[in-house]
Amino acid sequence: MASLTSAPIPRYAPEFRDTQKHIATMVWDDFRGHREQIEMFRRAVDRGRTAHAFLLIGPAGIGKRLFARNIAQCLFCTRTANADLDACGTCPACQQVQAETHPDLLQIGCPEGKSELPIELLVGTPDRRGREGLCHDLSLRPMSADRKVAILDDADLMNEASANALLKTLEEPPAGSILFLITPAVEPILPTIRSRCQPIRFHPLAESEVADLLVAHGDETDPQAAAIIARMSEGSLAVAAQLLDEGVRGLRSRLEEVLRGTGTDAMAAAKSVTEAVEELAKDLPTQRRHAGWLIRFAVQFYTSQLESASDETADRLVRQMERCLEAQEHIDGAMPIPLCLEGLCVDLARLGRGAVL
Ligand SMILES: [Zn+2]
Repeated sequence: MASLTSAPIPRYAPEFRDTQKHIATMVWDDFRGHREQIEMFRRAVDRGRTAHAFLLIGPAGIGKRLFARNIAQCLFCTRTANADLDACGTCPACQQVQAETHPDLLQIGCPEGKSELPIELLVGTPDRRGREGLCHDLSLRPMSADRKVAILDDADLMNEASANALLKTLEEPPAGSILFLITPAVEPILPTIRSRCQPIRFHPLAESEVADLLVAHGDETDPQAAAIIARMSEGSLAVAAQLLDEGVRGLRSRLEEVLRGTGTDAMAAAKSVTEAVEELAKDLPTQRRHAGWLIRFAVQFYTSQLESASDETADRLVRQMERCLEAQEHIDGAMPIPLCLEGLCVDLARLGRGAVL
């Protein structure tokens, strides 16, 4: 569990001071990283100087949407003061936010399979334009809280028409409303939108934070395995989830046989790894990504053996890692995947037997 030791001790409204033990599920306890951003927001709320629109910038899978949702929960919670930027987790408002049913929390994002955020989600269908959609709903009076909060995920996937529709809301934000725009990078966001939002940058999670979350969510029960996934995850739970995908797990265990030298024939094992990569995904970019992960997994495998290795073994492990890095360059370049992976597996097996390439 992450602690809030670096943050000031939360202050509760006087009427709730004697019920602190009731406030057991602090909304930020299950949230990893980004303490600076939480603190910045807390100070802004405390001073009563919150902007109407924020641009949350950073790679996918690091907690930007959860950050925005937690902020909404803190502002809606009826048992904590807004200035504390915390939430009890048990009041009806908190429960509604957690169940994604709070009437004053609006959320939209790009539907699966679409490459653009449909304008209908912002301003309604052509026959009901301006009478529904996020911009319309945000302009209505709050139903149970004292403000509305909107989360617009995939803001980078807005086309120009959508961005222009949103611009009107940004120019005349409804009183008290807060809008979070979520994007992996700032460049795809139109300058007119950008200039009306306060940017908050998010950085990848620490390896230990990813590992913690994987175990806490039950995605990976073995802490050591979670640590390996975390090391490969680039600080992103979204990447970690892909690495934990059943098919990718299968790839890794096949490769592990090759790395451990338990397979009888290196060439046959190499072919089976390559076939598995081709079967798991039909499109070349995904195949390349999977192949890249396999290579990084091999590097992790050898790194983990280095600590307890004798000098002689360490030399061999280093040569194997160097061969992996060469393969990584090949896969990032244009080398066909079978050529790259089969060559790698065969060479790793040879190096494992003490051969010099
Ligand atoms: Zn609450």
